[in-house]
Amino acid sequence: MKQDALRSVADLARVGFISEAARPELEKVSGRYAISITPEMAALIDPADPRDPIALQFVPDARELEQGRGESPDPIGDGAHSPVEGVVHRYPDRVLLKLLHVCPVYCRFCFRREMVGPGKPQSLTPQALDAAMAYIAAHPQIWEVILTGGDPLAMSARRLGDVFGRLRQIAHVKIVRIHTRVPAVDPGRISDELIEVLRNCGKTVYVALHANHPRELTASARSACAKLIDAGIPMLSQSVLLKGVNDNVETLAALMRAFVEMRIKPYYLHHADLAPGTAHLRTSIEEGKALIKALRGHVSGLCQPTYVLDIPGGHGKAPIDPDLSQSSGGGWRIEDFRGRSHDYDDPASAPPIR
Ligand SMILES: *Cc1c(COP(=O)(O)O)cnc(C)c1O
Ligand code: SF4
Repeated sequence: MKQDALRSVADLARVGFISEAARPELEKVSGRYAISITPEMAALIDPADPRDPIALQFVPDARELEQGRGESPDPIGDGAHSPVEGVVHRYPDRVLLKLLHVCPVYCRFCFRREMVGPGKPQSLTPQALDAAMAYIAAHPQIWEVILTGGDPLAMSARRLGDVFGRLRQIAHVKIVRIHTRVPAVDPGRISDELIEVLRNCGKTVYVALHANHPRELTASARSACAKLIDAGIPMLSQSVLLKGVNDNVETLAALMRAFVEMRIKPYYLHHADLAPGTAHLRTSIEEGKALIKALRGHVSGLCQPTYVLDIPGGHGKAPIDPDLSQSSGGGWRIEDFRGRSHDYDDPASAPPIR
C-alpha cells in the first residue's frame, strides 16, 4: 500500500522528526506555511541528526516566523509582470504558466511560499486557464511556455494532457519546459501514461528537475528520470544554494556529478530568494561566488551550473560571475581556476584615448 505524505506537526512528531517541546511554535509555522514530506523524502531523513540536509529542506523550523532583512512575500516580483492570472511574462520570448499551487513536498525556502499550499487557490479555474491560453495565443513572440506552480507534475496525466492539447493549437509555441521536483520526491508519478502524454504532445518538451542534495537522487529517482530521458525528453537541473544543505564544495560537486551521471545537464544554481522566514537557510553572495570558483576547473565543465540571482523587484535573473572584472587599464582582469589573475586587453574593444 502506498504510504501517505506527512502533512501536519502531529505527523512529524509521530515519526520523531520534531520534539514534543517544539510543537507549539511549529503549529504557528504550520498555520502560515504548508507542510508536506513524501514517503520517499521522509525515508531519507535521519531523525537523530539535527543537521540532516533533507530535514532542513522540508521539516518546519520556528525561525520561519522571523522576518529577515529585505524579505518580501513576492521576492522576485512575479506580480508586477503578470498580465493575466497564472501567467508571468517578464522576458520577451517566454512565459511562466502557473497551473496549480500544490506541491508533493513543501520546501521551507520556497520563493512562492505565500502562494502555495492548502488554503490557497489550488489551481487555475477553467476560465482563468482560458484567459491564460488566449494571452499566449495572442502573443506570437512567445516561443516557450514554462510550466511551473506549484509543481505541474502534481497534476494528473489526464489534466496535463488537456493543457498540452490546448498548447498544441498555438503554433508559435515551440518549447514547453516543465519545472518540477516530482521525479525525485514522488518518482511513482512518472507513469507510463504521463510519458505518453509528454511524448505525443506535439511540442519539444524539456524537464528541469529541482534537487538540492545528492541524497535526493535515489535509485527510484534515477529510474524515473531515465524513463523520461529514454522517451526522448532532455533534462536540466536547477538547485537552490542553501545553508547547511549544499553550501560546501564536496556536496555541490557530488550533486552536479550525480545529475550528469543521470544524463541531466546542470542548468541553474539559484541564490536563495528573499522569501519570508528563510534567512536561516540563505548564504551570502560572497560564499556563493567562492563555491562556484571552487567548482570551476576542478570539476568537469559538464558539471557547471550557472549561479544566478533573481533580482528583487521583478528585474529577472542575472548570472553572478566571480571571475571577470574590469581592470584599471580599461581591459579585463580574469582569474583562472588556481586563483591567479590575468589581464586580457580586448583587441576588439575601442583603443584607450591618449
Ligand atoms: C526564471 C524565469 C524564466 C526562465 O528563465 P530562463 O533563464 O529561460 O531559465 C522565465 N520567466 C520568468 C518570469 C522567470 O522568472
Ligand atoms: S516544489 Fe517548488 S513551488 Fe513547491 S514548495 Fe518546493 S520550491 Fe516551492
